[in-house]
Order: sequence, then structure tokens, then C-alpha cells
Amino acid sequence: MENITTSDLARYSIIHEKNPREIVLLRGRGCVWRRCRFCDYHLDFSRDEKANFALNRTQLEQVTGLYGTLEAINSGSFVDLDHDTLSLIEQVCQKRQIHQVHFECHWMHREEIPRFRQRFEQLGITLKLKIGVETFDSLFRESYLDKGIDTDSPAEIAAYFDEACLLQGLPGQTAESMERDIETGLAYFERVCINIMQKNTKSIQPDPEVITAFAARLYPKYIHNNRVDILMENTDFGVG
Ligand code: SF4
Repeated sequence: MENITTSDLARYSIIHEKNPREIVLLRGRGCVWRRCRFCDYHLDFSRDEKANFALNRTQLEQVTGLYGTLEAINSGSFVDLDHDTLSLIEQVCQKRQIHQVHFECHWMHREEIPRFRQRFEQLGITLKLKIGVETFDSLFRESYLDKGIDTDSPAEIAAYFDEACLLQGLPGQTAESMERDIETGLAYFERVCINIMQKNTKSIQPDPEVITAFAARLYPKYIHNNRVDILMENTDFGVG
């Protein structure tokens, strides 16, 4: 069921630092996986594709092309977006001289990425695909988080994806394990986005001690790294 509070979400923002870009939080028909045990943002969806397009159009019309780069996220994967929204993204990019677009995608849709890249490449637009890996510790990831990535090889994931999101501040993590994940992410991916776990409606809770360890030891180490985004709050990009 659609969460009625999602209509209040901020859906357009500009990120001025590090990889500067405009960002839109679009709405799709819903994450197909929907099993990650820490996630309730997949509630931002609607089966009504016309309504999704109408909402997405109001956000995409705000895009100016200021930095020539757009990030289009949708609480799921690009495959959940309707055809009209995808066509409008192409049109906006052409009109606003945007040559790079970042999209998110779950591992289960990885085989659809090459064709999607080609579609945009024909228009002179390079895609950057981002995956929520959360951690490269595959046992923790799959038995605790139920993420649905059936490989323990960062190289195999990086064969499809350009950027990795990590989820940190969870029970069981340590400063050392989080640093290991960040370093693995930097070794295999162009960019790493660290999301600090926030309390939400799901049973997995943030661990305050782990977050304190992150803030003391890892935040100072990586905050000035241009390849690392750190979201201490999940609205730090100005959307959500
Ligand atoms: S794949 Fe993404 S949107 Fe879907 S349940 Fe997992 S974290 Fe949530």
C-alpha cells in the first residue's frame, strides 16, 4: 500500500559540493525486491503510472542543467520508472545539456543495465549506475540485511555498477569493518556513498555506539575525499 506521507517528500535539490549535480527523487511502480530488512523507503511508490509521470514531470521541469549532471533516484531501480518518465529524462538532458545521469539499480536487474546504458549513450549521455551494496561482508549482508546480492565478489558487482552505497551505523559493525567496506568500495568503484542508518519503521535499528565510532574515526578521514559522499541524515542530499 502506498504510504500517504510520501507526498510530503522533498523531490528536487542541488548538490553543490563534490560531484556537483542536480538530484530528483522520482516515483516509480515500486521496488521489486522490497525485502531489505532495514528499508521502508520503498513505500514511496504508486501503481498508477500516469500519476507517477505527472509527479515526476513537476520535478524534472525544475532541472536547469546547472552542472551538466543529474542524479535520478526513485526508492527502487530505474526499471521501476514508467516509459514517459524515462523519455522525459532523455528530453530534459538534451534540452539542458546534461551529459551524465546517475541512476540506482538493484542487483536483480543488472542484466538490463548494458541496454539502458546504450540507450542513453546514443544521445551522448553517460550513465553512472549506483548499487546499494551496504557492506561487502556478504554473510552479514545476506543473512542479516537480506539484500539479495548473490555474489561475495566486489569485482563482479563492479563489472555492472559504477558507484556503491554503504549502510553504516548498524549493530555488529565496528570502525574497522566500516573502514574495510569504504576502502573496498574505493578500490572497485568510482564513488562511494555512505548512508548512516536512521531509525525507521523496520526492526533493524541504528547502533548509537557504532555511529559514534564512525563520527569519531571515519567521518574526519573521508569527509574531504571527493569520491566519498557521507549522509549522516538520509535527507542530507536535500531530497527525501
Ligand atoms: S532494494 Fe532498495 S528500495 Fe528495495 S527494499 Fe532494498 S533498499 Fe529498499
